[in-house]
Amino acid sequence: MTVIDQLFALFAEKGSGAYFGEDVTETAHALQCARLAEEAGADDALVAAALLHDVGHLLHGMSENIAKEGLDGQHEDAGAEWLQKHFGPAIVDPVRLHVAAKRYLCAVEPGYHDDLSPASQLSLRLQGGPFTPEEAKVFEAEPWYQSAVAVRRWDDEAKIPGLLVPDLEHYRPKLEAALLAR
Ligand code: FE
Repeated sequence: MTVIDQLFALFAEKGSGAYFGEDVTETAHALQCARLAEEAGADDALVAAALLHDVGHLLHGMSENIAKEGLDGQHEDAGAEWLQKHFGPAIVDPVRLHVAAKRYLCAVEPGYHDDLSPASQLSLRLQGGPFTPEEAKVFEAEPWYQSAVAVRRWDDEAKIPGLLVPDLEHYRPKLEAALLAR
């Protein structure tokens, strides 16, 4: 089984659960996020990062109500750890940093926090809340922080119930290119 087939099997097996506290499934959320990246003209790696940013949710298999139970699954680390066996930093780092990007945007962008969904505001508290100015500076020193911020913005939008978007197979060529570019 190729890496891409493994990923698609993971979505098929685990992706039909609700995306944490939202009205879309994990797979629908991932596909909407990737589509937004594609529509924005993102390169192959960034589209792949958008598609795979929450793969940690599928890997750790925790309940969808984890945030309501007061737990943070640290899915960004679980996802990045798995992905780095196969993909380079252009994919791994935006995945690893997409939660940090939320904390960053809450610190530097007026109004960003208030526009987050209730579920995202709840998980923010478990994830440590908005960055301090010092933490924001440390984040900006990450080579891929802008990609992480881009993924984060698509992540925030990719929660529309019933939206029709291309399926996983549509992304196979981009994922293959990203694997080769490692
Ligand atoms: Fe997400």
